[in-house]
Amino acid sequence: MTRWLAEYAWLPDHAEPTPDVLIEAEGGRITAVTPLVGGGAAPAGVEVLGDAVRLPGLTLPGLANAHSHAFHRALRGRTHGGRGDFWSWRDVMYDVAARLDPDSYLALARAAYAEMALAGITCVGEFHYLHHGPDGRPYADPNAMSAALVEAAAHAGIRITLLDTAYLTASVDGAQLAGTQRRFGDGDALRWAARVDAFRPENDHARLGAAIHSVRAVPAEQLATVAGWADRNGVPLHVHLSEQPAENDACRAVHGCSPTRLLADHGVLGPHTTAVHATHPTSADVALLGESRTGVCLCPTTERDLADGIGPARRMAEAGSPLSLGSDSHAVVDLFEEARAVELDERLRTRKRGHFSAAELVTAATVAGHAALGWGDAGRLSVGDRADLVTVRLDSARTAGVPPVGAFFAATAADVTHVVVDGRTVVADGRHLTVDVPAELRSAIAEVTS
Ligand SMILES: [Zn+2]
Repeated sequence: MTRWLAEYAWLPDHAEPTPDVLIEAEGGRITAVTPLVGGGAAPAGVEVLGDAVRLPGLTLPGLANAHSHAFHRALRGRTHGGRGDFWSWRDVMYDVAARLDPDSYLALARAAYAEMALAGITCVGEFHYLHHGPDGRPYADPNAMSAALVEAAAHAGIRITLLDTAYLTASVDGAQLAGTQRRFGDGDALRWAARVDAFRPENDHARLGAAIHSVRAVPAEQLATVAGWADRNGVPLHVHLSEQPAENDACRAVHGCSPTRLLADHGVLGPHTTAVHATHPTSADVALLGESRTGVCLCPTTERDLADGIGPARRMAEAGSPLSLGSDSHAVVDLFEEARAVELDERLRTRKRGHFSAAELVTAATVAGHAALGWGDAGRLSVGDRADLVTVRLDSARTAGVPPVGAFFAATAADVTHVVVDGRTVVADGRHLTVDVPAELRSAIAEVTS
């Protein structure tokens, strides 16, 4: 058994952190959560052994990064100076995609995921579409790239949901994939499903999920094939949705409806589905998403970086969509920043303050993100859940003097000192125990950019 004594811990359904909480775990699961009454006195029957690891600061459940493209980490700082938009950024992204193979992707993803671990992320949703060799020909193992990502997460010490992505066409009107995009394509949804069926990561840290890249990339008549595969296998289904107004326009021109409506009509929406971005939905789209309990994964730092716009987060939450968070392009890997951006962006849009409570932002960053990735047993400091602990220091230059309830509005990823995933310590004193994160990032990125 392992025991930790948290100076403060954010317990489920609490509006603010609780002081002096003893957390116990065995076999990777939380076995007891005991607030010590009066700041250190244990209730009768609870003995605080000297071997309890003290966690000064605020301890949170594990953070879930519900939307990642690991290789985009190589683009950080390389696309920010110039003009352009999402589409010109995408051209640079394709240059990096063209150079990756299973070995270099393992190295890059291992470093990128280890950066996430340092930031308190205990589970990543990898929206994976870089499937095949440079000319679009499958590798000898057609799932070699998927296997590299699953192995990378294991090396970094975090869990992964590999959201294997169907990416079949280049535009809503069905243009063929060309150039680097050929690496993404399986031909059609049935062949996509056959390839994914052959991949079963057999490790407790990894699960499989499905994704539809977007309405640009999967023809309408094949959407139900992907959705049906996810449903039959009981796994989460993710889809990029209305990230760009151009996607809405193209969908209307070809199908006479919004992308959300198209997905709804083909059985894609529902409580096991997560729409990523949802930056430009109509009011009717917001209602469709909410009524179907489709989740929405917001990626505010990427949407900011790519000049995409601000989605109607509060309205989507009110309509019934659970909100989760993703770092997407990894321009920033910091779920504290993503979480507060949900509130702060709403303030900019409405010129009013106070849309989301701190507890709602914690929920988005933890339990809702894990649920969106198919881990219903993670993201809460409660008995039976996976023993994921993320401790944020409250004595840094950024957090000193901040009340624990305000930590999400003050802390950064650099304030994470201790990370436990499934009961195993991955980060201690702000250092990753097995990966030299800056050195590995430097060499892995040099490999694919120089
Ligand atoms: Zn994305």
